[in-house]
Amino acid sequence: MREETRSLRQVPVSIEGYDSLTVPVHRASTILYADADSFARRSDRGADGYVYGLYGTPTHRHLEGRITDMQRGVRTVLLPSGQAANAFAMLAVLKTGDRVLLPDTCYGPTRDFSQTDLPALGITAEFYDPTDLAALERRAAGARLIWAESPGSLTLEMQDIPAIVAIARRHGAMTGCDNTWASPLNFRPLDHGVDLVAEALSKHFGGHSDLLMGSVTVAEPDLGLRIKAQMGRYGIGVSPDDVALVMRGIETMAVRMARASASALRLAGWLQEQPHVTRVLYPPLPGAEGHAIWARDFQGAAGLFSVVFDEAAAPHVMAALDALRVISIGASFGGTRSLAAPSAVGPLRSATRWSGPEFVLRLSVGLEAPEDLEDDLTRFLAAIETCIAAGKIKKS
Ligand SMILES: *Cc1c(COP(=O)(O)O)cnc(C)c1O
Repeated sequence: MREETRSLRQVPVSIEGYDSLTVPVHRASTILYADADSFARRSDRGADGYVYGLYGTPTHRHLEGRITDMQRGVRTVLLPSGQAANAFAMLAVLKTGDRVLLPDTCYGPTRDFSQTDLPALGITAEFYDPTDLAALERRAAGARLIWAESPGSLTLEMQDIPAIVAIARRHGAMTGCDNTWASPLNFRPLDHGVDLVAEALSKHFGGHSDLLMGSVTVAEPDLGLRIKAQMGRYGIGVSPDDVALVMRGIETMAVRMARASASALRLAGWLQEQPHVTRVLYPPLPGAEGHAIWARDFQGAAGLFSVVFDEAAAPHVMAALDALRVISIGASFGGTRSLAAPSAVGPLRSATRWSGPEFVLRLSVGLEAPEDLEDDLTRFLAAIETCIAAGKIKKS
């Protein structure tokens, strides 16, 4: 054997006795077969067998299995982002001529997908008031799928998932739920009869703002196999390196979420008492909108909430954000650092009317000391006061 050939040969390595706490990263496109016959019969290996890297390596199986278990489902499919999870969960059950109902408060890019790409496939997307069950019941006849997201993006309306599942069943519709805010640690839609649950693993699961991934989990084996096969045909898979990062993130997810939500509850309660704050949109806060449903159905919370300012303060929120020193300005959530995102609600609502100011301030609370976050928000609120005072001087 010549040197270059020799250098390409794998030497046999035993994994006997190698039992690690961590999940090994298996990177592969090609999977080898012992002989030509087993290659010819590779499709016999079934949906979870190893035939080609796109369909997953043992690293992928670890994460799929862990999420399936956390969700109390039967199969999980991994996708390159949370948005892909939402889009492909819908495409898995919708076909030309179908109608899907989405909450008015669904994730913005998912609204965009439903309004742009679904109609191009001959699928009708309609939006419903997330908290008006009677209105949903009136529109449910003939719908193939009812989508839910609880609490909703930006304004955090809680949806009554058990009641929505009951409506869907009465009308022969399936249900899908974007469960990113709660994560399966705090709410498990499949336990309530939901058919498909999507998660943006980019948020709490990954937990460090350094990856993008999504998952779809189902409770029905045939539906799971159909989605898995469809993702294969579309050529959609994820990198085992990213999977390993998500696996690492899950190890600390419960403590991160507990810490962030405890800090968020403290900050939300404090903000509610501050001048110029008209509402804090955070269902875990006693007395907040949606609190009863949250307390009934959820076992915990995320550190993500929104603040609504009065008319005097609202125009100055943008400028005052520059006073922040600990909290960074940026979208997303579930990472270690706190983030503030001024978010326009009005353009993202069509079935309901947003009557608040143009922007709400969405805060993603991280793992910093809550005292430092409160000090930072004190600086921000003082900057608003300064802007209001300066505006008054200018006017007079
Ligand atoms: C972030 C988010 C998504 C999308 O996740 P990406 O991985 O960023 O694509 C979907 N739904 C909700 C509720 C989200 O917050």
